[in-house]
Order: sequence, then C-alpha cells, then structure tokens
Amino acid sequence: MADEKIIGIDIDDTLNYSSEVIKEYILKYGNNYSDDNYLIENLDKIMRGLNFNGVISSFFNDYCEEMASQMKIKENAKEVIDKLKHDGYKIYIITARSNKFYKNAYEFCNNYLNKNEIYFDKLIIGQNHKLNVCKDENILLMIDDSIDTCEKLEDNGINSLVFNSIVNSEKNTNCNRVNNWLEVYDYIKELEHKKVMLLDKN
Ligand SMILES: [Mg+2]
Repeated sequence: MADEKIIGIDIDDTLNYSSEVIKEYILKYGNNYSDDNYLIENLDKIMRGLNFNGVISSFFNDYCEEMASQMKIKENAKEVIDKLKHDGYKIYIITARSNKFYKNAYEFCNNYLNKNEIYFDKLIIGQNHKLNVCKDENILLMIDDSIDTCEKLEDNGINSLVFNSIVNSEKNTNCNRVNNWLEVYDYIKELEHKKVMLLDKN
C-alpha cells in the first residue's frame, strides 16, 4: 500500500554483533581450515557474502548456526524498533542469510528475533543484493552495514543508512552513517522533519 511507511533492517552487523563472533570463531578454529590467516584476512568479504570458496564454505557449514545463535542484539535496537512501530512504521527484516548454511534460515531467524523480542512485520531471507527487494517491497529506508548495498540503493533513489561495524568503519562513503541505534532514531526523526520520509513515492 502506498501509504505504508516501511523501514528495512539488515540482521548481521546491523541488528546484532556478527563480525565479533565470527572473528572469535575464526581465531579459535580457523587453523583447521587454512594454515595461513586466510579466513581472518577475508573477514570483510565474509561479511559481504563474497568469495565463498571452499575454505570459507567449509567453515560456515560447520559453525554458521552455532555462531549465529551467540550473536547479541545491539544496544537499544529493540527499544528503537518498538518506538518506530509506535510511530507508525512497518518493520521489514531483510537478510542475506539463506538455506545455504542454515538448515532453515527463515525458521532460525524467526526464532532468533522472537527470542530477542525484536518486533517485525515481515522477515525476508536470502537477499544478498537488496536493491530489487527494496524496490519490490517499497522500502522507504534501508539500514545496513554493507556500504555497497547502501550506495546502490541511494543511486536508485532509495534512502539508506550505513550502520558502522568493525569491518566497514575504515571504508569511505558518501552515504549517511550511524554508530548506534539511538542515532538511527535521531536520523529518522531528522528525515521526517525534512519531510523526506513523507514523500509519496508513487
Ligand atoms: Mg549485514
């Protein structure tokens, strides 16, 4: 519906701390997969879902769900999402997580979000490239730690917000960025103030 205001939210490194857990597991078990520092040196690519060759795939086949179940929700994420819901926004969780490494990615994410009391209207899995899904679902603003994703969205007229993480903070971008969920809320209020979020996209 044209009058629905939908905010898209990524899971890994946006809603939760993913890189930290993956890094910890690589430091612990990485040597069983590669005798150099291959995995740790490719952490940023892993977080982007890129270069999933044999080494990375074997590691993820073994530890993906175990790692994901240990990832902690970022501070104030739940509270801010609840406030956004209260303010009239719909919340779509849009993730690259798929059945490639999860037995049932939808069920896993659904359980994880419910267990952590994260409100959402819709959960969409298997979306490594988020431009098409954001267009199809009429997303007003996508919040994601992937700079590539955010730049692509902005280039196509969709508002985006880069959530800083330990793997993206040194990369430059013209996209707006935030360090925490309180800044996400302030940013959205600022957009509302400028009436950007109230524009009829049709
Ligand atoms: Mg992410």
